[in-house]
Amino acid sequence: MTTSNESQFVRARKVIPGGVNSPVRAFGSVGGAPRFVTSAAGARITDVEGREYVDLVASWGPAILGHAHPEVVAAVQQAAARGLSFGASTPAETELAETVIERLGGTRAAGGLIDELRLVSTGTEATMTAIRLARGFTGRPLLIKFAGHYHGHSDGLLAAAGSGVATFGLPASAGVPEPIASQTVVLPYNDLDAVRAAFAAHPDRIAAVIVEAAAANMGVVAPESGYNAALAAIAHEHGALLILDEVLTGFRVAADGYWGLEQARTGQAYDADLVTFGKVIGGGMPVAAVGGRSEVMAHLAPNGPVYQAGTLSGNPLAVAAGLATLRLADKETYAHLDRVSGVLQGAVSAALTEAGVVHTVQSAGNLFSVLFAPEPARDYAAVQAQETFRFAPFFHAMLDRGVALPPSVFEAWFVTAAHDDRALEQIVEALPHAARAAAQA
Ligand code: PMP
Repeated sequence: MTTSNESQFVRARKVIPGGVNSPVRAFGSVGGAPRFVTSAAGARITDVEGREYVDLVASWGPAILGHAHPEVVAAVQQAAARGLSFGASTPAETELAETVIERLGGTRAAGGLIDELRLVSTGTEATMTAIRLARGFTGRPLLIKFAGHYHGHSDGLLAAAGSGVATFGLPASAGVPEPIASQTVVLPYNDLDAVRAAFAAHPDRIAAVIVEAAAANMGVVAPESGYNAALAAIAHEHGALLILDEVLTGFRVAADGYWGLEQARTGQAYDADLVTFGKVIGGGMPVAAVGGRSEVMAHLAPNGPVYQAGTLSGNPLAVAAGLATLRLADKETYAHLDRVSGVLQGAVSAALTEAGVVHTVQSAGNLFSVLFAPEPARDYAAVQAQETFRFAPFFHAMLDRGVALPPSVFEAWFVTAAHDDRALEQIVEALPHAARAAAQA
């Protein structure tokens, strides 16, 4: 063998901080060298040692069809042959915007969620733009966010954030000046009284409430029934906007996102003024977006005074990947994801119960995660109070048996259309070993 994950990690750490280009990839809370991936296809990834793993990370969400779907790869190759980037408009960008608007029920006049969409390259940019737009539209400074929710790494959103910020136990990020941090009001999730109290404490000062459509960056914590709709109502009552962050949930939990899933369940629509997308919308290439109602979107440059721009925004390769992915992600895809997720949730729970490990499987649509606590958690404090130490041995036992989970207890597990019976079997066979390792922790 010419190389190993360990030697690649040693080499990477000399030139890349922590050896990773995104902290969530580090095995920070589970220990050991992260796997250096050389290729991926379908439900599997292959590392530099030639070992194959059934993958439940799916690039943290985008690979909804499985890795390197031939039709998505072909779409990208064809786009590449026509030119990598023009810095000018393309018909495909308009088609992607039309596709997304259509998937969310059409324009608002037609009963849908958004009228217009601006493409950016990352989820961070999408939420950053949404917040600036909300402030520009309302003329107000403050933002409400919820503890344990992650919306990317822009300054104002790193207070009590989920994902890597939770994994590494950071209360907030260093390097964010206090005057910026103080513009964010952090509240406990699933607590409407806290939201009402914040609006009462800061009259006419709150521009927007930003919320993950279903929290999935502190493990999965679904909103309680009617919670998102109530957030919209409270925000609107006080002249503020609701920013629904569907970067992770959008086009993953259903064709029309968690917003659509909730509507289908309750028969009730609710209104979000701005909605952010990422991950699946780019099918593994850098595309994200912010959409909204036209009165708000009219404030964006070049039509309005709120500035936002991007050299690579709407990049033709990325848009081609997104369009192909959305075209292929049909009803059957979502039915398959739900089925696979259901089987895995049942299998994880059965294995942990058999091993005597106290746990709760938390889910929101086809997203799920394991909480090492006896009761379901509804907020960040409850999630933090679980027996986190059980996760590292669980994770490594799975990895040793060829199953790659997200390397943190604070992350969701991602299934794909490529998780077939063989992949499922491999996961299900590994679970009892992992459960016993967790029991012995
Ligand atoms: N919002 C949510 C809900 C996310 O899950 C993420 C990324 N995990 C982001 C925003 C940020 O997206 P990106 O990593 O593309 O900047």
